[in-house]
Amino acid sequence: MEEATGAGTETGAGEAGAGAGPGGGLDSGLLRKRVVGFLREHVLPCEDVLDAGGPKADTVLRGVQEQARREGLWAVPLPVELGGQGLDLARYAAYAEAEGASDHGPAALGSAPLLDVLMLRRHGTPRVREEWLPRVVAGDLRTCYAMTEPGVPGTDPVATTTRADLRPDGSWRLTGRKWFTSGAAGADLVTVLARTDGASPDRDGLSLFVVPTTAPGFRVVRELPVLGASGAGGQWEIAFEGVRVPGDGLVGERGAALTVAGERLQLGRTLRCLRWLGQAQRAFDLMAARAVTRTGSRGPLASHQLVQAHVFESLLALRTARPLVHEAVALLAAGADAHVEVGLAKVAAARTLQQVVDAAIQVHGAAGLGPDTALPALLRTGRAARILDGPDELHITSVARRVLRGYA
Ligand SMILES: Cc1cc2nc3c(=O)[nH]c(=O)nc-3n(C[C@H](O)[C@H](O)[C@H](O)COP(=O)(O)OP(=O)(O)OC[C@H]3O[C@@H](n4cnc5c(N)ncnc54)[C@H](O)[C@@H]3O)c2cc1C
Repeated sequence: MEEATGAGTETGAGEAGAGAGPGGGLDSGLLRKRVVGFLREHVLPCEDVLDAGGPKADTVLRGVQEQARREGLWAVPLPVELGGQGLDLARYAAYAEAEGASDHGPAALGSAPLLDVLMLRRHGTPRVREEWLPRVVAGDLRTCYAMTEPGVPGTDPVATTTRADLRPDGSWRLTGRKWFTSGAAGADLVTVLARTDGASPDRDGLSLFVVPTTAPGFRVVRELPVLGASGAGGQWEIAFEGVRVPGDGLVGERGAALTVAGERLQLGRTLRCLRWLGQAQRAFDLMAARAVTRTGSRGPLASHQLVQAHVFESLLALRTARPLVHEAVALLAAGADAHVEVGLAKVAAARTLQQVVDAAIQVHGAAGLGPDTALPALLRTGRAARILDGPDELHITSVARRVLRGYA
């Protein structure tokens, strides 16, 4: 594509931390620059192929991943003992923003499985930790995470209908259907939420299992194009039709699924916010470049005050969302409660992405809707951002309730 993206000229990405620690001599500012350069050189030019999916996309992705390894940029935030580079969250923040400028950035650089790896390292059995996790970090096994179901609200996990029934030999029989499982068709392992005990709305009867997608009875049902488009790893509907899971496929204690899932929520949402900021910055850069280069008889688009207003409003959105996201990062990095900050950041970052991309499309005119820029894909991500990882409404009411408690 046409871009010099990610870095943007208007970056100001707050370096969330500095100094020594895990991740050894990795300097976050330098790393960020290297990631911006890596995306520009190796990822953005392949986005169309990667978006299309299939065997060609797989081959191209593997080549880009190999390049990342050669450049020492592989699995930078993943745990050292599993083969990653152990960059801590505070220093990873600026990097995550830069790699997130493309939906393919995290997969290209080996940081995509971070949440699954942290969850399975903490709650997986020895077989999962020792046999599978190093291969996940190495990029040999791909993971996905399946909670949401077609038949019940994803915002209400206690309504989960997928069942896991204990068999006399100590294994489980898994039956049910999930959808919008990101990356499921290419995944080797799926972590799945299922009811093992009780009935809705009982919270303690839900458990998590990790299952190889080669297990008999696992089936990819169909792809679910987002706003009509496939790609970027894709969303999938999957079925578990009597899948046998050994007893050590349990992730965490039986009945503890919502506790385990809850642990990854705050970090997961914050990582998404960082990536959305990276994408909003990319849209901003595209808009600004278009405004100064597109010229008619009355001068460049940038000379029109209403175009300047798009630039101003987008900059304002970016500059107000970014500190909220980095505040959430700083609290999480310090191990502090960040419910309010993550909720504010999640709503702000999703809105910002949608707003900035929309403005960038407007300034591009018809070209913004066509196939020659990343803007249509960014618009889809921006729209989806307001639903996935908890719709806006959930965060708005949850933040408001917490804040109001302090006034009661
Ligand atoms: C691109 C994308 C990727 C995804 N990836 C994954 C994945 O990898 N794994 C996975 O398990 N899931 C994934 N999801 C699913 C996502 O987590 C759910 O869509 C989300 O949790 C919302 O659930 P739902 O779609 O069932 O909406 P519902 O729960 O049916 O809610 C629909 C709407 O109702 C309103 N609403 C719901 N609750 C409230 C409330 N308390 N107050 C006010 N209004 C409310 C909101 O407007 C909400 O958008 C993905 C979704 C998308 C779009």
